[in-house]
Amino acid sequence: MIIRAELTWVDGAFRPGIEVELGGDGRILRVGPASAPTPTHPGTAMLPGFVNAHSHAFQRGLRGRGEHFPSDVENFWTWREAMYGLVDGMTPDALHALSRDVFLEMRRAGITTVGEFHYLHHLEGEPPFSGDHVVLEAAREVGIRIVLLSAHYTHGGFGTNLSGGQRRFDTSDAETYWDAFDRAAEACGPNQSMGVVAHSLRAVPIDDLVVLHQEVLRRGLVLHIHVEEQRQEIEDCLRATGRTPTGLLLEHLQPGPECTSVHATHTASDDLEQWLDRGCGVCLCPLTEANLGDGFPDRPRMLRHAASLSIGSDSNSRVSMLEELRMLELAHRLHDGTRGAWRDASGRIDRVLLDMATSGGARSLGIEAGRIAPGALADFVLVDLGADTLSHVDHDNLGAALVLGADREAIVGTCVGGSWSTA
Ligand SMILES: [Zn+2]
Repeated sequence: MIIRAELTWVDGAFRPGIEVELGGDGRILRVGPASAPTPTHPGTAMLPGFVNAHSHAFQRGLRGRGEHFPSDVENFWTWREAMYGLVDGMTPDALHALSRDVFLEMRRAGITTVGEFHYLHHLEGEPPFSGDHVVLEAAREVGIRIVLLSAHYTHGGFGTNLSGGQRRFDTSDAETYWDAFDRAAEACGPNQSMGVVAHSLRAVPIDDLVVLHQEVLRRGLVLHIHVEEQRQEIEDCLRATGRTPTGLLLEHLQPGPECTSVHATHTASDDLEQWLDRGCGVCLCPLTEANLGDGFPDRPRMLRHAASLSIGSDSNSRVSMLEELRMLELAHRLHDGTRGAWRDASGRIDRVLLDMATSGGARSLGIEAGRIAPGALADFVLVDLGADTLSHVDHDNLGAALVLGADREAIVGTCVGGSWSTA
């Protein structure tokens, strides 16, 4: 298959006259000058498919529900109680419908890979770990590429047992965890793979996390963990261990590029510097962090390691990769009282932000996607240059116009492993 869009995003710019040839293996065979003048996809621009590095599909069920605020104090922790209420009665059919529908929303938003940070392992009246298989099946139906990031979850807090809805997440011990992991891996079909999660340092004691990480390295997998989204988590960790969560990970794990911390909103400067210097990643979830009132991450420090940053839709209260990038850029402009928040050395924001949504996500999930280059997975998103939100925009400004001025109306198709789906 040969694809000639009007414009193709290669090496950080939209370029005309490019042709992309796909192999039979769902990967890109060749990228080069067009061999014919007529586009195969006229009136479109093609980018690497967006990579959503952090999602909890089932939380789509909270959309709108968690947005009534009867008490004086409404924050992350009251939201978490609403989330526990949702999981308590979750049936396989309900989880399947929520997962399928949110994965469909993702494809329509240009997302071709989802990193599903999955901890809802057990469902009402079903055998243990049936939730893992329901999510894989929903992804297969929609045709979205999935990295099932299976979560280890053994504690309800520092030194406390699981209770209530948390029992749906229970992985007990390393043997139980890896047994369920291997069964999910066996169930993976085309475009499906596995990664490892420690839900948080609240949920997995550091000694267990060290053992988990050793196995991650032995198997060549990635490891994701929720870190320092809330100040209370840091205070609780300091009280229990004398260290911050990131400080604990740095001290005990020898973390490297295989590790991604999700949020790192309140990570101390020294910790963050060391984390990023070691090549570890950070996944930001701008819309969810805004919705939950989390706060602002350390932009200047993160920007110096922009290739290590990725984006996640997290709670899925809104599914739009372009809006995630827009929120990230505009929120930091508001916060800092300046313009051009996430810019590179040449002053462009589109390269930094679109890289987070593509190559940064792929790096975090350990897949060869997120770029249009030979050998990479043939995952693309197609943009309609005739969309009303993109009229009067020239090629050089298209990236910034997409991020700041467009949304789903401009996205007309996605391709996963060489198979197209129109929006
Ligand atoms: Zn999360």
